[in-house]
Amino acid sequence: MAKLSEAQIQFLKAHKIDPSLLYDASGQSSSDWRGAMKKIGKKFAFGTSPCGAEGHTLRSRHGHCIQCDPSRIAYALRFSKPGHVYILGSLTGKLIKIGVTTELASRVANVVSMQYGNASDWQPLAVTEKINGAGKIEAAAHNILEAHRVTGKSCRAGETHITYELYSCDYNNAKSALESAVPEGTKIFTKASQPVLSAFKGLERAA
Ligand SMILES: [Zn+2]
Repeated sequence: MAKLSEAQIQFLKAHKIDPSLLYDASGQSSSDWRGAMKKIGKKFAFGTSPCGAEGHTLRSRHGHCIQCDPSRIAYALRFSKPGHVYILGSLTGKLIKIGVTTELASRVANVVSMQYGNASDWQPLAVTEKINGAGKIEAAAHNILEAHRVTGKSCRAGETHITYELYSCDYNNAKSALESAVPEGTKIFTKASQPVLSAFKGLERAA
């Protein structure tokens, strides 16, 4: 389990890299973390093997040190790809996750199997139609919910990793963040029954 250093946090902030794009690659071979990142839509790995020049441990999915060569960041952040922006919820974890996928069912299965936020009862609450620039919309929704962000843990292949993309908030907060992030007229489909959505009301963890 790797932790971001203060210098790395400052670097990420300076380059406007949303923490939800990060993947904890500690203890994995580069082919493993690259494959896993692609599967779950992550852009940058931390806790990688140190770069040859300066010993940095932040890399793009292609393995380049982004601290030595920040020009790799813009390339990795091409947000033009189409996808569905989704809201998942966990009642036991009192957690909300907003992300992008091209295939919702398999993403939900992955999130459940990785026990995001130590929870395995993740279920889809809402999803947009397929839209262009889905990554950009996801980042905008994250930005709106920033005050509710919580650091969680996930598990892969028996190892614990840190995730920075979970929120502890009412479903209505998440829904309105998504509504204000999408282009006007975008369809957002509700994926859960009304009783389930009601259970996600007032779910915020005590501070
Ligand atoms: Zn470097």
